[in-house]
Amino acid sequence: MSKSASKGSRNNGHSQQGFETLAIREGIERSPFGEHSEAIFATSSFVFDSAKDAAARFSGDEDGYIYSRFSNPSVDSFERRLAALEGGVACVATASGMSAIMATVMTLLQQGDHIVASRSMFGSTVTLFEKLLPRFGISTSFVKIDNLQEWQDAVTPATRMLFLETPTNPLTQLADIEQLAKLADSHKLLLAVDNCFCTPALQRPLDLGAHIVTHSATKYLDGQGRFVGGAIVVNDEVHKNDLIGFMRSAGPSLSPFNAWAFNKGLETLSLRMRQHSENAAALANWLATHKSVKKVYYPGLESHPQHDLAKRQQQNFGGVVSFELADKPVAWNVIDNTQMLSITANLGDAKTTITHPATTTHGRISAEARADAGIADGLIRVAVGLESIDDIIADLDRAIDHASA
Ligand SMILES: *Cc1c(COP(=O)(O)O)cnc(C)c1O
Repeated sequence: MSKSASKGSRNNGHSQQGFETLAIREGIERSPFGEHSEAIFATSSFVFDSAKDAAARFSGDEDGYIYSRFSNPSVDSFERRLAALEGGVACVATASGMSAIMATVMTLLQQGDHIVASRSMFGSTVTLFEKLLPRFGISTSFVKIDNLQEWQDAVTPATRMLFLETPTNPLTQLADIEQLAKLADSHKLLLAVDNCFCTPALQRPLDLGAHIVTHSATKYLDGQGRFVGGAIVVNDEVHKNDLIGFMRSAGPSLSPFNAWAFNKGLETLSLRMRQHSENAAALANWLATHKSVKKVYYPGLESHPQHDLAKRQQQNFGGVVSFELADKPVAWNVIDNTQMLSITANLGDAKTTITHPATTTHGRISAEARADAGIADGLIRVAVGLESIDDIIADLDRAIDHASA
């Protein structure tokens, strides 16, 4: 290997370097061509020098790539970089955020096991836990995310895992990760945190005692609304090997092309999360003073009931802001009267998105469950992007005026 080809891999002992450095330089393995930007290894299989060499790779006597369902250099590179950013031992990349969660529970749990999970989770995660896992003998109790007593009371002798995402969508409620990690440790449970909303740029659950982090890389890790993917970060060698074994046989693997895009996304993650947070804070502050707005949900506001926890647990407050208007007709009217904002349920994009949770992301749950969760018919969620904040506010200002007129 030439000097330039080997140089990139000097940064792999990911202990001392800063977050931004790791996000840009960790996990680079240059090919003999010495490319500066990471290569995309678009290959399904890898060739061997001889039949003997092939046998040694397959038996595990020799390290090396075999087939991209098992491992691939572009995917490896993304995995090493994200593991470093989350402060974990290893990362396993997956085809989507949902397959990351599926692989986590199917690898680490078995028939008869019980999960305690936050009630406020991504809709498909709730469906997976509530509808699909019981078919394989795994049950789940759902609890209120910010009520430690409920978490405690739900633990049974069969419980193996606590699962949550924080802050929640769309009401930005927080879980106290450190406290739940203590609860998990005292019962020898695994605490898994879906870190999609904050990303490691704003929150590192493993540092706070969580055992597993899952990601939908589709959101902020990509950051530009292009690719679907996911990842699991663990801090335990056994979990890592078990997950690799699951991925090898079950196969929800990440494509090298998507891994490459996420790797490039990570280069700017810190910068983007800072700007998403800055724009979201400005929008939240503006909404809080608007006479037509009944309530604003954003952890960065001092009025947020868990503002102190957010300050302690997160580096910044993230890009998601929700606010409540009079009722559903007014909310729909505001959404329809925006001119720039994109009407889509996705988030973590440079483009600001606007959505009506009660009839989209949370439309399939009963009206009572929605009311119970505090998701009013007048609620709007904005995933604040990276456009000029003045333009984001102007678009909403015009739309709210128009709808209230
Ligand atoms: C989008 C999302 C998921 C699912 O990720 P996909 O990449 O769409 O499969 C899981 N958790 C959270 C919090 C999400 O926002």
